[in-house]
Amino acid sequence: MADVLMADAETFAFQAEINQLLSLIINTFYSNKEIFLRELISNASDALDKIRYESLTDKSKLDAQPELFIRLVPDKVNKTLSIIDSGIGMTKADLVNNLGTIARSGTKEFMEALQAGADVSMIGQFGVGFYSAYLVAEKVIVTTKHNDDEQYIWESQAGGSFTVTGDVGGEQLGRGTKITLFLKEDQLEYLEERRIKDLVKKHSEFISYPMYLWTEKTTEKEISDDEDDEPKKDEEGNVEDVDEEENKSKKKKKIKEVSHEWQLINKQKPIWLRKPEEITKDEYASFYKSLTNDWEEHLAVKHFSVEGQLEFKAILFVPKRAPFDLFDTRKKMNNIKLYVRRVFIMDNCEELIPEYLGFVKGVVDSDDLPLNISREMLQQNKILKVIRKNIVKKCIEMFNEIAENKEDYNKFYESFSKNLKLGIHEDSQNRAKLADLLRYHSTKSGDELTGLKDYVTRMKEGQRDIYYITGESKKAVENSPFLEKLKKKGYEVLFMVDVIDEYAVGQLKEYDGKKLVSATKEGLKLEDETEEEKKKKEERKKSFEDLCKTIKDILGDKVEKVVVSDRIVDSPCCLVTGEYGWTANMERIMKAQALRDNSMSSYMSSKKTMEINPDNGIMEELRKRAEADKNDKSVKDLVLLLFETALLTYGFSLDDPNTFAARIHRMLKLGLSIDDEDETGVDDADMPALEEDEAEVSKMEEVD
Ligand code: ADP
Ligand code: MG
Repeated sequence: MADVLMADAETFAFQAEINQLLSLIINTFYSNKEIFLRELISNASDALDKIRYESLTDKSKLDAQPELFIRLVPDKVNKTLSIIDSGIGMTKADLVNNLGTIARSGTKEFMEALQAGADVSMIGQFGVGFYSAYLVAEKVIVTTKHNDDEQYIWESQAGGSFTVTGDVGGEQLGRGTKITLFLKEDQLEYLEERRIKDLVKKHSEFISYPMYLWTEKTTEKEISDDEDDEPKKDEEGNVEDVDEEENKSKKKKKIKEVSHEWQLINKQKPIWLRKPEEITKDEYASFYKSLTNDWEEHLAVKHFSVEGQLEFKAILFVPKRAPFDLFDTRKKMNNIKLYVRRVFIMDNCEELIPEYLGFVKGVVDSDDLPLNISREMLQQNKILKVIRKNIVKKCIEMFNEIAENKEDYNKFYESFSKNLKLGIHEDSQNRAKLADLLRYHSTKSGDELTGLKDYVTRMKEGQRDIYYITGESKKAVENSPFLEKLKKKGYEVLFMVDVIDEYAVGQLKEYDGKKLVSATKEGLKLEDETEEEKKKKEERKKSFEDLCKTIKDILGDKVEKVVVSDRIVDSPCCLVTGEYGWTANMERIMKAQALRDNSMSSYMSSKKTMEINPDNGIMEELRKRAEADKNDKSVKDLVLLLFETALLTYGFSLDDPNTFAARIHRMLKLGLSIDDEDETGVDDADMPALEEDEAEVSKMEEVD
C-alpha cells in the first residue's frame, strides 16, 4: 500500500456517510457523469475567489503565485486529467477535514435524493461536489499548497480510506491545488480536447478566471532528404509519424510535428456588464447554472442597473424549486454574490437581501463600495442599505412578472409561498406589495388559487370585510360549519391552511382598506340584516337561553360560555375561540411546539365559546328534554358528545379520547339495540381504557 512506500503517509478512514456516498457514486450507473468537470472547476473558482478576497487587504498573499488561473491538462499517455488552480489551496488540516473526515450536512440528503430518483448532477447543491470525481476516476490525487502550510498530497481509490502525505520532493505549485483524475478505462473521452472544450462551454462558461487547456497541435512540415535521419531518432514524441509513401520516393517527405500550448477556453467578460437585450435566454440559463450549481434552468431573471448618485448592476434569479435546506435554521441562506468593480468580494452578503428572500440568487456589482470592504464595515454601510432596498423592490417586480404566467406562478408559489408569508410577517415596508402576491384556495376558487385582488373584485354588495378560515388542510376547512352562513350569503372565504398563514394574517390585518376577518373567531358580524330578521333572532335566542345555561353547567370549565348562534345553518353547534383566544389551528400549532404544560397554553386554549344552532333538530330535542328534566342523564351524555364531536370537527384535539370513544361505543350499542351488562349509564371518565384503544389513539396522534 501507499503508506508502505512513503514513509510519512498517514491513512485516514472516510467518515461513514461519505464512504456510503462514494460507494453509491462508484457502483451505480449514472448517465450524466460529465458534470464532474463542472464541479471541480467550480471548486477551483471558489478557491480563487477566496485568495483574491484575502489579497484585497494583504497583497503579499499572492506572492507565492501572483497569477490567478485555472488550467486543464489531459494526459493521454498516463490517462489522467488534471485540474489545476492557483487558488487558496488547502492546509493539511483542510485536506483531512474537507475531503473525507467531516460529513457535510448535505451528504445524507443527497443520497436520499439519489435513491428517490434524483439526478447525480444535483450533487453540487448538496455541498459534496468534489466526490463526483469518482464518477469518472478510479483514483484521485489532490496536490495542494496553502500559504500557511507545506505542500501535501491527498490520495484515494475510495474503498474506505485516503492517505495524506507531505510533498517536499514533488513539483511545487507555489499556491493552489492540482486535482489529478486517473480515468476509468471507459471514461477516456475526457482526454479529448473537443469534449473538454464543449463541456466548459456548456457548464462553466461564466467562470471569471482565465481557464486554459493544455492543447496539442500537430503541424505538417516538409523536409528534404538530408534531414531524413534526424527526426527518426527523436523519441520524445515531438515527431510521431513519417509518411511512408513519401519516404519511398526518397526525395521530399512530410513529417508531423507536435507542439503544446495553453489555449484560453473561456470568455471572462462578466455577463452583467453586457446589455440585457443582447443576452439570450440560454446565456442567462448557463450563467445561472454556473453561479448556483443548479442542474435546472432558472424560473425568472431580472437584470438591471441603477444609475445616478449610486451605481450598481445586478442579475437576480428565481430558481425553479426550493433547495433541500431552504428552512434549515442551522444555515443562514443567502445567495447573492457581491462584486466591487468586477472583483468578487464575498458570498452570502447578509446585508444585501433580507432573510425571507434568501432563495433569490444572483450577483451585485457595485461601483461605489471600497474594494477592501470587510464584513464588519458592511453592517454600517449606507450604500449597501440603498442597494438592499433596490434589490427587494426588483425582487417583488420579478415575482409580479412571474405572476403574469399562471403555470409559472403556481410553480413559484408552491416553492416559495412560505418566504412571501415570512416577508409579510417581517417586512412592514413591503407588506402591502407582498400581499398582492399571496394566493389561496377559497370557497369560490375551485381547484385554482386566488389572490386578494381578485377576491375584492368578487366581493358582494354590502360586504365590507375579507373572510378567511385557518386550518390544517383544505379538506379540513372547506366543509367547516363556520362557513355555512357566509356561503349562504354568497361571501367568499379564503382557506388559509399553511402553518405560517396564521402568523402572516395576524400581521397583515387588512388589504386594500378591507379588514381580514376570521370566520372562526367570536363576534363575527354579518352586515345587512333586516329589522325583522333581528327580531326573530332575538326571540329564538330567548327560548334557548335556559338550554345554554344547562349546557354550560354540564361542560363546566371546558368552555367559557354557551350562546345561541346566528351563523350556523346545518350543524347543531360550533366552537369558537374568543377574540383573544387561539383558533383551533393556532392551538394545534402551539401544541405541536410542545407548549402543552405551559400555563399560557391552558389559559389560551380554554377560551372557547360554544355556539348552538336553534334551528337544528338535535338542539330542539335537547331543549325539550332539558325543560322536562334538568337532570336527564341522556341530556348530559348528548351534550358531552356534541362538545367532543365539535372539538374534532374544528381541529382541536381531545384531551381524553378514550372517554370519547367509550361514549361513541355506547351510542352505537344503543343504536344497534345491544344489551350490555357493563352499561352503567353514567359518565365513563373512570372507565379503564382497553389497551387496544390506547394503541390506536396514540397512533392517530402521531399522524397528527
Ligand atoms: P463545496 O464546494 O460545496 O464546499 P465540495 O465537495 O465541492 O463542496 O468541496 C468540499 C470542500 O473541499 C470545499 O468546500 C473546499 O473547502 C475544499 N476544496 C475542494 N476543492 C478545492 C480546491 N480546488 N481548492 C481549495 N479547496 C478545495
Ligand atoms: Mg463544490
